[in-house]
Amino acid sequence: MDTSKQYINGEWVLALSGETREIINPFNQEVIALVAEGNEEDAKMAVAAARNVFDQGDWSATSATERGNIVRDIAALIERDKEELAELESLDTGKTVEESRGDMDDIAGVFRYYAESADKDGGEIIDSPVPHTISKVVKEPVGVCGQITPWNYPLLQASWKLAPALVAGNTLIMKPSEITPLTTIKVFELMEEAGVPKGVVNLVLGAGATVGEELAINEDVDLISFTGGIETGKRIMRSASSNVKKLALELGGKNPNVIFADANFETAVDQALNAVFFHAGQICSAGTRIIVEESIHDAFVEELVERVRKIRLGSGFDKNTQMGPLISKIHLEKVMAYVNNGVKEGAKVAVGGTRPDEPALQNGFFYLPTVLTGCTTEMNVVQHEGFGPVITIETFRNEEEAIRLANDSIYGLAGGVWTKDIAKAERCVANMRMGTVWINDFNVYFPHAPWGGFKQSGIGRELGKLGLEEYQETKHVYHNINPEPINWF
Ligand code: NAD
Repeated sequence: MDTSKQYINGEWVLALSGETREIINPFNQEVIALVAEGNEEDAKMAVAAARNVFDQGDWSATSATERGNIVRDIAALIERDKEELAELESLDTGKTVEESRGDMDDIAGVFRYYAESADKDGGEIIDSPVPHTISKVVKEPVGVCGQITPWNYPLLQASWKLAPALVAGNTLIMKPSEITPLTTIKVFELMEEAGVPKGVVNLVLGAGATVGEELAINEDVDLISFTGGIETGKRIMRSASSNVKKLALELGGKNPNVIFADANFETAVDQALNAVFFHAGQICSAGTRIIVEESIHDAFVEELVERVRKIRLGSGFDKNTQMGPLISKIHLEKVMAYVNNGVKEGAKVAVGGTRPDEPALQNGFFYLPTVLTGCTTEMNVVQHEGFGPVITIETFRNEEEAIRLANDSIYGLAGGVWTKDIAKAERCVANMRMGTVWINDFNVYFPHAPWGGFKQSGIGRELGKLGLEEYQETKHVYHNINPEPINWF
């Protein structure tokens, strides 16, 4: 795989400036690839290609079945190259290869789901109040889509955008995170192999401030779909106002995991770990805010801490590893500062709270899995998304307080409730202001179910039927089959 090039108008091209960027392995800081470092000019070139191909109309005029077939072929190619893709993702992000294999299955599943959806919604005839007329509602592609992805689930987040945009008949320009572009480059090779026509999908590599900003502001782009941090999302909203682009924003989360005393204790502890420590807590939906009923707080913390101590850190390529490093030095420093500030605010470190001291881990961006107790909602450590392997623990005395604490956040991405009392669970769910709520589970998602946030966690939905509709315009067509003068004037 040649990582040095971008994919614009069906050609693999170097950055116009000739600049490159080093991609670093977060486990040992080795340089694993040199990639093109595009800038505004590369982005403009890609937008022009996508605009031109969309305006020619050949791609959007293909049948949805035909586009679905191409998307199905992309899924098959991802399955064929699963192992290579999984290893590439782990090399680039530090997560375990086992996790990356799971990601690749999910990614192929997303392409397959949208391939199957492609021809299922051909519009509808609606009731017209006027005799001798036909009124129908049809779906059309939005046009040229700018797609910007983060570094935590590089290819998974890309798949949520690429597959629906393609089946809906759009053209697109994708900008992956500059830290983790490798699997996205590979999938553009696979899309070329699957026969996606020239100029339909374009890949520009580079920084957010240059390539990303250009996509957000460029008036030839009709829609921006962005996954990333809240501050970047706000900035993109402002830039996207240049031509009133359609916006889909998947932003951060600070997700409550509410545990009642009557929950199945063993499972709740086990799943509380899974909710946070996959990919070292660098998950938008990580259940980092544990809100536990006061009567079981001590037992819960004791069991949690004992199990957290046993989490094995290491290389994602070592079968014994359960948790890899954080993504970068800058991010490690942010997580360290986040925990240290929490301690200054009064949180107590029950376990972790520092870097590991094993010599073998010193070159990687490792941070110990951490549990902070004695937390309250006023604390920054509870309110801000730390995006690391850090749990904060708060307590509640009754259902009303549990719901109030769970909702006390600017975010509203996801949350969980643990109880054997079904009515109580349903009351909590009805009052929790989040895009996804799990009862007696956490962090489950699949292509059929919509994903997205309430409040400042975002705008719009990915996955499911709604994830396709983000990429469609709705047109009402009114046909008078018996036109006659009405003689008003
Ligand atoms: P980030 O906002 O720093 O970067 C995301 C992407 O935006 C990158 O490609 C970056 O280059 C680009 N970017 C940066 N500045 C830009 C600008 N001015 N204009 C346009 N693009 C710009 O986020 P990150 O650190 O890569 O990812 C972590 C964040 O992503 C977390 O907040 C996490 O919660 C969020 N996330 C959300 C979801 C979700 O489904 N809601 C999923 C994954 C990650």
